[in-house]
Amino acid sequence: MIKKLNKYLEKFKELPTPFYFYDLDVLRNTLDIIKDESEKYGIKIHYAIKANSNPRILQLISLYGFGADCVSMNEIERAISTGFKPKEVFFAGVGKADKEIVSALDAQIGCFNCESVAEIEVINSIAKNHASVADIALRINPNIEAHTHKYITTGIEESKFGINIQDLKDVVSLISKLENIKLKGIHFHVGSQIDRMSVFTELCKKINELQKWFSSQNIKLQIINAGGGLGIDYENPEKMPEFQQYFSLLNKLVDFNNDQELHAEPGRSVVAQCGSLISKVLYIKKGVNTCFVIIDAGMTDLIRPALYQAVHKIENLSSDGKIFRYDIVGPICESSDTFAKDTELNETSRGDIIAIRSAGAYGEVMASRYNLRDLPYSVFSDDI
Ligand SMILES: *Cc1c(COP(=O)(O)O)cnc(C)c1O
Repeated sequence: MIKKLNKYLEKFKELPTPFYFYDLDVLRNTLDIIKDESEKYGIKIHYAIKANSNPRILQLISLYGFGADCVSMNEIERAISTGFKPKEVFFAGVGKADKEIVSALDAQIGCFNCESVAEIEVINSIAKNHASVADIALRINPNIEAHTHKYITTGIEESKFGINIQDLKDVVSLISKLENIKLKGIHFHVGSQIDRMSVFTELCKKINELQKWFSSQNIKLQIINAGGGLGIDYENPEKMPEFQQYFSLLNKLVDFNNDQELHAEPGRSVVAQCGSLISKVLYIKKGVNTCFVIIDAGMTDLIRPALYQAVHKIENLSSDGKIFRYDIVGPICESSDTFAKDTELNETSRGDIIAIRSAGAYGEVMASRYNLRDLPYSVFSDDI
């Protein structure tokens, strides 16, 4: 097996571990494809910053002219400071705090994606005090099963996200009475790491049905936002996500006309494959029926395996010895601090460099200081 990161091995050995390594050529290549494939159909991209908000990564993404999907005041600030245009910054999330709404109005962002009646009323009153009008889109819960992990399923009725379809009539009649709110569009996001195109097909059908309903109410929608969620292949870190198939499907199935904008908000699929968590083997420990590889990265650096039972491909860059089966674990005082169970790795010993692949999304951004550990730092391919 060819290990792509091997060319950096000597550099990795010199650097203190653990750290996130970002291959910016992979990121540029991914962004080129996203740009080409989305522009074919005039689909507008708003990158979901929460997947990775490392300033260096954001600076590169903003160069492509994409907008930003943000879920906090600090993300909005980060997006604008790294080159995203305020009008292309959208603010989503079920729990926007008052001070965040004020700060978003101050920044003159493009759109609030609203998730409840209560939120719309609060935005209206804050906008009134602010002497401005807030452009909003309604995040609608389309009641679609995303067939992904339950923690990243967001578009079913029991989910906290979005406005339920049966409440739309009341919401629309409320909005018509609010002077500091302008309804610009509708927004959806049914989940993350979606690997069945049929989920997006179903979403497109729901979007069209809802568009018909809005037309019947004489409401013009300028923005149709299909959200994010396109999955990646964690088993194959070199594989490009299915952007071509995804954008052509949206274009084919969503009814939209010339005075409307079709939006997509990819997060994971933009940044996952360019990042790896690089770690060093501290100890090999023989269990009763298992052999543990204890590495110096833990769930505080990459929580996805502990939180979502996520599987990442793991490589020992230092060894091309015989394949053995190991449990790969971190140093944190939790049994869930396990990166992989009974997984294949070349024969491993203390000091070997381990790469946990496809860690560019929901990796560094979710790091914590539990056990008072240091936060991981980042290294970029352009610099070494
Ligand atoms: C998280 C999120 C996204 C991005 O999801 P990915 O699965 O990373 O593509 C897009 N839109 C909204 C509203 C989100 O919350």
